[in-house]
Amino acid sequence: MENVRRDLILMVRLQRIYDRISELLVEQRTPPEEIRELHEENMRRKQELEAMEDQIEQLRSEAEEVRAKETESRAELEHFQKQKATVTNEREFTAVINEIDFATKAVEEAVARRKEIEETVAGLEQEIEERRQSRPEEEASHQQVVQQWEDKKHELTETIHELAHEARAIEESLQPANRSRFLRLLKSRQGKAISVVIDGSCSLCHFELRPHVQQRVRRAEEIITCEHCHRILVLPNLEELFPDDAAAG
Ligand SMILES: [Zn+2]
Repeated sequence: MENVRRDLILMVRLQRIYDRISELLVEQRTPPEEIRELHEENMRRKQELEAMEDQIEQLRSEAEEVRAKETESRAELEHFQKQKATVTNEREFTAVINEIDFATKAVEEAVARRKEIEETVAGLEQEIEERRQSRPEEEASHQQVVQQWEDKKHELTETIHELAHEARAIEESLQPANRSRFLRLLKSRQGKAISVVIDGSCSLCHFELRPHVQQRVRRAEEIITCEHCHRILVLPNLEELFPDDAAAG
């Protein structure tokens, strides 16, 4: 009987340790707002850089087409300029002059567009370079934030290990049947093997206990489980009610 009460007290302590471990795991998975913002900012920067690189690629392929057009128009221009020397009448002369004007305009347009593209590409390349040089995650203030979070995570891991160690020690001092019962419940009941009885009900599933069950929980002489959620039931102040058992545990 006393062994049961002692085990109940140990299980309450064990549950407290597992609750703390779950809290710490959540904390570890939740980076601070600054870190999340930094991460988002980096993602955004990366996407913007990629968009600019895509734009450069498109402009370069357009520049190639423009250059081809320029070469073609220059060849035409040369051809009509040669032809101008061999015209025999006014009508032919006018026609050749028109062709020359047309080809000249085409060359000028191609050159203008090519220059425009080259300037845009140069501007984009400079922009990319500047952005690459100012990487926010490498800036001192950010680096500090990142380092602090890394340290914090490391610290949390250490604490979790210590708590797990503590839990193992308590588990070892439980009677084997109670230990496996507790661990089974912990696993199948979302990390909650123990439920406290409040106002005559199981505080986790809110099932109302029959008076004689409440009575048995109060005595803490046997392991009583909730009829609905099957968790082990205890009174909230178990350790205070049985200080001798608490001290022995
Ligand atoms: Zn319950």
